[in-house]
Amino acid sequence: PDPSRQLLRERRRRDRAMGGAAERYYADPPQIERGWGALLIDSQGRAYLDLVNNVTAIGHSHPRLAEAVSRQLHLLNTNSRFLYRAYADFTERLLEHSPDPALDTVIPVNSGSEAIDLAIKLVQVATGRRDVIAVREAYHGWTMAADSVSTSAFDNPSALASRPDWVHLVDAPNSYRGPHRGPASGPDYARQVAALCDRLADAGRAPAAFICEPVLGNAGGVIPPRGYLDGAYPAVRAHGGLAIADEVQVGYGRLGSAFWGSTMQGVVPDVIAVAKAAGNAFPLGAVITRREIVDALRREGMFFSSAAGAPAGAVAGATVLDVIRDEGLQQNAACVGAHLAAGLDRLAAIHPLLGTVHGCGLYQGIELVRDHETLEPATTETAWICERLLGHGVIVQPTSERQNVLKVKPPLTLTIDEADMFLAALDATLSELRDATG
Ligand code: PMP
Repeated sequence: PDPSRQLLRERRRRDRAMGGAAERYYADPPQIERGWGALLIDSQGRAYLDLVNNVTAIGHSHPRLAEAVSRQLHLLNTNSRFLYRAYADFTERLLEHSPDPALDTVIPVNSGSEAIDLAIKLVQVATGRRDVIAVREAYHGWTMAADSVSTSAFDNPSALASRPDWVHLVDAPNSYRGPHRGPASGPDYARQVAALCDRLADAGRAPAAFICEPVLGNAGGVIPPRGYLDGAYPAVRAHGGLAIADEVQVGYGRLGSAFWGSTMQGVVPDVIAVAKAAGNAFPLGAVITRREIVDALRREGMFFSSAAGAPAGAVAGATVLDVIRDEGLQQNAACVGAHLAAGLDRLAAIHPLLGTVHGCGLYQGIELVRDHETLEPATTETAWICERLLGHGVIVQPTSERQNVLKVKPPLTLTIDEADMFLAALDATLSELRDATG
């Protein structure tokens, strides 16, 4: 069969079923058939280096995961209502990573959006308050509450205009291009949170919580400067509010130096939301919090979600944590991430389009700008580079409000050779762009 006609047919099938809701990447997207480690292989047998798949943290088609889940599927998979060993295995394994003995309770859910929704519900019932402080430009999910605290205009152009009245926003603590700049700007951003808490309390609406990613994923792995979270958390707590850390993208060892972004930032949240890596693309997420916060929810009713923590998903969750430990994937993220960062530094010295590199470990964001003073975003160039890199066999996508950051968040199995392949392809692409545009 003619491969291009086959691809066209597959694209039409997807469009017919999903209409405009289907998100489309690439002018000519490959049809991916299988994966292995950090590689994806298309229907024509071509391999691509997958730099965007933070969901498959332990890599594609991991044999240990395939075997464990398949075994469980042959035994039992049903709703999460009864007593299953897999449920306890997953929740106990996850609690081994709890950043503090006080965070001793886990509730499994099915996705990141659900984890955020539940986190918001928990802080509201535990404090008896409604108001939540969120960070501009963040993405926290699509369900009603998660969407309410998501103000990424890229995700939803009317996001700022359509917030419910219980959501209050502060600036994104972006020390590269935000209103306060440089590594010492953390306390300036934290003061904004403290001032908002004061204003809300004066109006009789002290906040239930402050929600923030410890490293800003949607912005491209922007690390909030020191003094931000460790300044904002005490300010919120001084008013009786709680701190929610959205670790859906950046938790699970991806940052290399710590299992959690919040630990790397030197803070302990009251509620942690996880998903993505938790199930390596099985629909699995969780909320980790203190017992009394969950007990507050029980006073209001009960929590039940049919498939959340059901046997096959729970086996996936426990196996992912075992593989991260046994294969030293957090250490790999630190080591390959440092190698990648050093390579990107070398590229920045010869390609002026490279404005800065955000993030650490295997969450890095390469921000492309036309001018180092004005920081004019190189949005068109970023899209062109992504298309071009696909031709080089590298899958990488733009992110941030300005779509000028190449996000690099591959499976944690990425090797030094694979990182080098990406660096060579990016170097070639940037050189080609420079030669074409002068
Ligand atoms: N929080 C963050 C930081 C995310 O990046 C996402 C997904 N991109 C979510 C929450 C929502 O997760 P899910 O897509 O699993 O609902």
